[in-house]
Amino acid sequence: MHVSHGFSGAIGNTPHIVLPKLSAALGRTIVGKAEFLNPGGSVKDRAAKGIVDDAEARGALAPGGTIVEGTAGNTGIALTLIANARGYRAIICIPDDQSPEKYELLRTFGAEVRVIPAVAFTNPENYYHVARRVAEETPGAIWADQFNNTANRGAHYTTTGPEIWNAFGASLSAFVAACGTGGTLAGTSAYLKERNPAIRTVLCDPYGSALFSFVKSGVLETEGDSNAEGIGIKRITDNFKDAPVDDALRVDDQTMVEMAYWLLREEGIYIGGSAALNVAGAARYARTLPEGSTVVTILCDGGDRYRSRLWNRTWLEENDCVPHASGLEFLG
Ligand code: PMP
Repeated sequence: MHVSHGFSGAIGNTPHIVLPKLSAALGRTIVGKAEFLNPGGSVKDRAAKGIVDDAEARGALAPGGTIVEGTAGNTGIALTLIANARGYRAIICIPDDQSPEKYELLRTFGAEVRVIPAVAFTNPENYYHVARRVAEETPGAIWADQFNNTANRGAHYTTTGPEIWNAFGASLSAFVAACGTGGTLAGTSAYLKERNPAIRTVLCDPYGSALFSFVKSGVLETEGDSNAEGIGIKRITDNFKDAPVDDALRVDDQTMVEMAYWLLREEGIYIGGSAALNVAGAARYARTLPEGSTVVTILCDGGDRYRSRLWNRTWLEENDCVPHASGLEFLG
């Protein structure tokens, strides 16, 4: 068995889980990369490690320093755990519309949590701008800036991409992923395209995000809304900019919820909404490819972080997205 050193050493090399029932139903192999098995519980462990390694290498972060970030949760959780392991302090600015589990975890892990009213990005009080100001005002602090710090996508270029390529190589037909910062899709796609330009790289977007229209027609336009956490964005980040993305599809919240419950019931896989949206997107895209094709996607985080929302009947009823499918009919 592989031996790893410390929290950072345990990040990555996550399993590639073939979803057997879904694959059999589609006649195409659908694979979820189990990012929920990272030591901080999400795909954002990779970006956080990449950002902190880069800041240390540049001399921007010294022992006793502080890491400040604006985050929907998972990046903050990952940064806080790395901060604990390496002797830094973490200040996390998080909007007030995220699942309660994330605030609890951040506080338990020892972050200084600043809950910021959720307002539009154009408002200077948006959590992103607040984080930047907190970092500027805190001596010895860095602003992780996951959206525009390309050490984020760099981590996926050097780890996620090679891991998928080493596992599937020439048999890989497509890679499908949603975007929060865009780091996962951009970094992984860049690496895979370099190895084999024929691999299709595909954005899977929730409603309310502008990237679907950007990939399809070059304009940032939104339609509808979504309760998905950690994904969907209305601007082009430095991490997403120039990403070699071939195509895009959109998945609505009802389909996301149906897929989350189907995966738990049929495959024993318990994940968060963005991961379920990714699997739904991968399945729909796979059907456009020849039979026998292999499509890899990302299982961004686990279900436990959403016990009071996605996995809570009352919340589903309040948000009018109770799952009712018995099979995969929701894929259309
Ligand atoms: N899913 C979840 C739950 C996330 O927290 C994030 C990160 N915001 C993503 C997906 C998207 O990852 P990325 O930032 O690399 O685009």
